Amino acid sequence: MHYRGGIGTGSFGYDHLVLACGSRANLQMIPGMAEHALPLKTVGDALHLRNRVIARLEAAELTEDPTLRRWLMTFVVVGGGFSGVEVAGEISDFLAESGRWYRHLQAEPPRVVVVHAGPHLLPELPERLGHFTERKLALHRGVELRLSTRSRAIDARGITLDNGSRIDAGTVISTIGTVSSPLIDALPAEKVRGRLKVAADMSVPGLPGVWAVGDCAAVPNSREDWSVCPPTAQFALRQGPQLAANIARRERGQPTQAFGYRPKGLMSAIGHNRAVARVFGINLSGFIPWLLWRGFYLLYIPTLARKVRVYLEWNWAMLFPPDIAHLRFTRTVDADEDP
Ligand SMILES: Cc1cc2nc3c(=O)[nH]c(=O)nc-3n(C[C@H](O)[C@H](O)[C@H](O)COP(=O)(O)OP(=O)(O)OC[C@H]3O[C@@H](n4cnc5c(N)ncnc54)[C@H](O)[C@@H]3O)c2cc1C
Repeated sequence: MHYRGGIGTGSFGYDHLVLACGSRANLQMIPGMAEHALPLKTVGDALHLRNRVIARLEAAELTEDPTLRRWLMTFVVVGGGFSGVEVAGEISDFLAESGRWYRHLQAEPPRVVVVHAGPHLLPELPERLGHFTERKLALHRGVELRLSTRSRAIDARGITLDNGSRIDAGTVISTIGTVSSPLIDALPAEKVRGRLKVAADMSVPGLPGVWAVGDCAAVPNSREDWSVCPPTAQFALRQGPQLAANIARRERGQPTQAFGYRPKGLMSAIGHNRAVARVFGINLSGFIPWLLWRGFYLLYIPTLARKVRVYLEWNWAMLFPPDIAHLRFTRTVDADEDP
């Protein structure tokens, strides 16, 4: 195996190689997306987006030009799946709760628009929960929904929709589309929709000693009619330990085991301390699933110290207005160019 990175380049042999390189955001889906939209895939993307929202609020506060202010205060989210709904809910909560600091925000509410190709939000959940989400976003936060609508192009001034209409917006966020990692593309092995085809025990056929898990692998699920596992953390977290056990079995000369997991359910926060969920076949919506959603994520945060810290921060955020400090990442060496 060859590597390159901060410590230079090199190569080493292996007995077992586990590929867990995930997927990447596909910024080529819509013309102009790569240049003008903000992807939401990594923690860095989320921090950048937070800074962008705050910078737009600050700029809107300074300008006396109402057209420019309207543009600065318009946020378009492309995609109405889990990521799109969660980011639209978070941004609209943040804007609503930051209003006290910005006089223009009080006089003229900001605009958050979700553009979604499907007829209802959250297509992975039952339609009823999608409609509940639409009502909550629209009624409580004034989020505008453009359903059954596709984005045609994105440019520096905003977004053009497939029905020919335009939304002028200072920020367009893309939550749609993933593409496989170049590492996976380069491998001489079969792919299933860009994911590496693996056997039931997560070994890669034709590549002895190579295994794959998570978003980069098309793992058949023995407990769900051998359908390919969806690219979610819920599955990746279960695949990892079983893959380790399979490698140990292979080393001991024992037969490996097929991966199997019955998902517990799906949840999505929708803003305003509300969530929708389908857990063990039961549909839930409102504050209780939101508490469940938080509890569930807390459970999976590693180490007790971090669990406690996140728990306290979450509760802090419920009691106090949002932190509007713009965290700049400028280093001393760049400070001259970025005053
Ligand atoms: C905005 C967002 C929200 C999500 N919310 C949820 C949720 O609520 N619930 C849920 O179950 N799932 C959620 N997911 C999906 C979940 O994040 C993924 O399914 C999960 O992270 C997949 O784990 P992974 O280990 O396969 O890949 P990743 O977590 O993507 O990790 C892959 C790692 O490999 C590294 N890497 C890539 N290429 C190379 C290379 N060539 N060499 C070395 N390292 C490499 C990457 O830098 C990365 O650190 C969400 C995803 C996004 C984008």
